[in-house]
Amino acid sequence: MPQNPYLMNFSELGLSTPILQAIKQANYESPYPIQIEAIPAILQKRDVLGLAQTGSGKTAAYILPILEELQQKAVNKGRSVSVLVIVPTRELAAQVEEVINMFANFLPRKVKSTAVFGGVSINPQMMKLHGTDILVATPGRLLDLISKNAISISELSTLVLDEADKILNLGFKEEVDEILSLLPKRRQNILFSATMEESVAQLIDKLLKKPLKIETHIEEITPDLISQTAYLVSQERKGPLLRHLIQKGKWHQVLVFTSSIRAADNLTAKLNKNGIQARALHGDKSQGARTEALKQFKEGNLSVLVATDLASRGLDIQALPYVVNFELPRSPKDYIHRIGRTGRARTEGEAISLISEEDKPHWKVIQKKMKRWVELVETENMDF
Ligand code: AMP
Repeated sequence: MPQNPYLMNFSELGLSTPILQAIKQANYESPYPIQIEAIPAILQKRDVLGLAQTGSGKTAAYILPILEELQQKAVNKGRSVSVLVIVPTRELAAQVEEVINMFANFLPRKVKSTAVFGGVSINPQMMKLHGTDILVATPGRLLDLISKNAISISELSTLVLDEADKILNLGFKEEVDEILSLLPKRRQNILFSATMEESVAQLIDKLLKKPLKIETHIEEITPDLISQTAYLVSQERKGPLLRHLIQKGKWHQVLVFTSSIRAADNLTAKLNKNGIQARALHGDKSQGARTEALKQFKEGNLSVLVATDLASRGLDIQALPYVVNFELPRSPKDYIHRIGRTGRARTEGEAISLISEEDKPHWKVIQKKMKRWVELVETENMDF
């Protein structure tokens, strides 16, 4: 695992230019940890075991290298698929197909994916299968389609089992065994599961050969150790208020979050202009610049780091005293992630949010999700 995964770029993972362009179109700024590990391994045709949940970025972690591989293949004119993704539910089948299409639409070699699942009539699905490269399927419906000769998996090159624990918990073990018996011996196997219960372990033993094992950890955050404050302040006065807080409080290590790369750059420039040493940390900065900014910050030579949300997840800075939400994140989950940079390892930290009138409804949603109400301090009469 690289030292700080969030400082990597997609371009460092072995993907070609068209795929990188597709990633850019999808607005993915930098790869998530699971993607950093899985993408190169899958490109090298290794088997992969991912212990990861929804939200980790697991779907793109296997879809991107699979799309890359397919770029080299001749267009499929038959009913034999190259890639099979087995999923437990119709919902996941639809989600995976969405991710495939999001990227595939931008690629020069058209990739056809089809999602099939039970509970709806089989005929329309049969009609759509011709020329499919990636088949996303629930186990029962897949076997039905195979028995009707609508599709073949005997020449497949990559098998993915997504949410394997759920597939087994839904009682699909026999179906999975039957599907495995129909596959060619030489193939790549990729398995994702949120848990490692006995039945999953058995399947892994049977299926995977010397897999690369990737584990993603849901970070433990202790909101009780974090003291939270919110200031009601207009958008124009956010900058002056932040400078006031930093200078008056003599803050020497503060991580500030903005909602966009542009906002991060603007704020950084303004702070510097006012004599507060700051640097921006985001995906548009070169690898070198990001590593250097983080190093300076960690060593205490730089007091303010202005970051976009992606930086909030992987940064491991011990005992960070202050986190400021210059702008609120879109999701309550990201808010928790942001403030989780402080109050770690049993040290106390302070999270400060700058809330404008327009932010108020969204701030309410965040607090509700967090099940915590934070006092909103008026700033109208404050002198800064
Ligand atoms: P998943 O765990 O695959 O369900 O993905 C969770 C969410 O993260 C989805 O909404 C993805 O679109 C999003 N996502 C995955 N990878 C990235 C990335 N590198 N940058 C930004 N968003 C991502």
